[in-house]
Amino acid sequence: MPDKKVVVLFSGGIDSTTLLYYLRSKGFILYPITIIYGQKHQKETESAKRICKLLGVKHKILDLSCISEIFSRSALVSKRARIPDVSAEKKHFDTLKITVVPNRNSILLSIAVAYAQNISANYVSFGAHFSDRGVYPDCRKEFVRAFARSQKLACDNPSLKILAPFVYKTKTEIVKLGKKLKVPYKLTWSCYKGKKFHCGRCSSCQERKRGFLEAKFPDPTIYSHK
Ligand SMILES: [Zn+2]
Repeated sequence: MPDKKVVVLFSGGIDSTTLLYYLRSKGFILYPITIIYGQKHQKETESAKRICKLLGVKHKILDLSCISEIFSRSALVSKRARIPDVSAEKKHFDTLKITVVPNRNSILLSIAVAYAQNISANYVSFGAHFSDRGVYPDCRKEFVRAFARSQKLACDNPSLKILAPFVYKTKTEIVKLGKKLKVPYKLTWSCYKGKKFHCGRCSSCQERKRGFLEAKFPDPTIYSHK
């Protein structure tokens, strides 16, 4: 079924892992791709490898670390900018801003589209979701729609589709869906800091904790700080 091949931007976090399980449940043949763009640590990539192994799918890992030179203001990449701790009460949006990697989804998705063309796949998917729309403009539905149109033109392929099925879903709804799909969340990685355990204090950890709490589903992750 070549028409059901999908290239999935896969980080090893909870959104893209749930996305893989969701697409698999819909009969897609998965081609996950993990792109290294100079993140400070590789914990997510290690998670991504383990999850792909569990799923028994071909996992493409592309090392584009050199691109970090042009992302040096983002705390996810910069060695100088510290990942801030946030309190559970504070809206994580306040501190997420310094973790923005400019135009990341356009860049990563363009690469995913190129890979899709190369393996004759007509679908490319990524885990943009509703909770990220405030800080990350390239997670909004308007971006997805416009990007999809540009890629059809760029590849002269009217069959090409960009799937972002979580664009209207919150983190909590994603966790609820993952529970039904039996996603192995224990294997996923969310923390912006690359320590042995999730720190429990960065905005990504706080968002993860909130998602599981609101979904009323126990988070199997070990946190250094509750
Ligand atoms: Zn953390």
